[in-house]
Amino acid sequence: MYGLRTEACFDSAHFLTDYYGKCENLHGHRWRMVVTLGQDELQREGTMKDMVLDFGVFKQEVRALANELDHTFLVEEGSLKPQTIEALAGEGFSLTVLPFRTTAENLARYACERLCQAGLPVVEVAMYETPNNCAIYRRP
Ligand SMILES: [Zn+2]
Repeated sequence: MYGLRTEACFDSAHFLTDYYGKCENLHGHRWRMVVTLGQDELQREGTMKDMVLDFGVFKQEVRALANELDHTFLVEEGSLKPQTIEALAGEGFSLTVLPFRTTAENLARYACERLCQAGLPVVEVAMYETPNNCAIYRRP
């Protein structure tokens, strides 16, 4: 199998519901998203002949997702009162409401699903929430 890997970072806030420790409070991370593609065969013709994919295309998709999540508050749907969401949005804050608890594991899976939907043959996403700690999602 052939592989390609690239990465992009984004800064965003979150908190964990039903967590007893520092992460129950609103805080931020510089999330580092490392994406690995895998493909059994290289492309056979055209400008991408003998490539998995052009790096330009790969980086563009990964950066687009990072830009979408950058400087937003990643909120688990239902974790805040509707009035709180309205008040934050009313203040002009950028919110990304997600249908899951915003753990690094779930964010890695979310990134994998989004990039697969964009047509990339993603096999793994590592989501770093600190320079030393990351969660990994591998596509089954
Ligand atoms: Zn955190």
